[in-house]
Amino acid sequence: MILELQLLKIKINIYKQFQMESPKQTLEISKQQQCQDLESQKACRICLNEETSQDKFIDYCQCKGTIKYVHELCLKTYVMSKISDQQANLKDVVKNKQYCDICKAEFQVSWKNSYQLINWKKLLQNETATLLVIIAGFLIMIGSIIVMTSTRDKVEQITNDEIKNIVSVVIIILCCVSILFLLSCQTYIIYKYLIIKSIKINKIAKIEQNNEQNRHVNHQANKQ
Ligand SMILES: [Zn+2]
Ligand SMILES: [Zn+2]
Repeated sequence: MILELQLLKIKINIYKQFQMESPKQTLEISKQQQCQDLESQKACRICLNEETSQDKFIDYCQCKGTIKYVHELCLKTYVMSKISDQQANLKDVVKNKQYCDICKAEFQVSWKNSYQLINWKKLLQNETATLLVIIAGFLIMIGSIIVMTSTRDKVEQITNDEIKNIVSVVIIILCCVSILFLLSCQTYIIYKYLIIKSIKINKIAKIEQNNEQNRHVNHQANKQ
């Protein structure tokens, strides 16, 4: 009974796999051949390839038999494909529990934020205004420094020491504030518009279940 069920699941998987492939490829591969291959060798249930030293199988759920073999990378890609919006907030994604589609066992996924600089072509095409704002910001910063150094000579000419000190302090404060303000604006613009934030899977791990949970999981799997 269990063997029959597993065979049926393998067939369903192969059917899904065939649907994903192009019609030309589909014709080239015999369904029966695939099925026999799966039974005789340890093949990934997603890509149907064997385990290699670079591409290892991962044990992450309660599936048994040939159906349990899946590459870590294939599984990560599959889990990622289930997230509709990859730009989604990490907090929202983390909240969702992940379950094996076949045995319904929950597995642990640890996520990480990924930051990537926008590519230059896209930057020049879509973010020209942002780029100009950033360049203008840097020019204003350089301008502030030049103004600060050039006014120093004029301040030196003031004979009244008290006024001289006040003017110096005011100029220094004004320049520092403007430079700090521009720097924070620049940082914000770069972070907001030039860095692509996405979510990646850091690690997938099996959740060890006790016997009672196992029975529950098996019961659910058998019901399907
Ligand atoms: Zn695979
Ligand atoms: Zn499973």
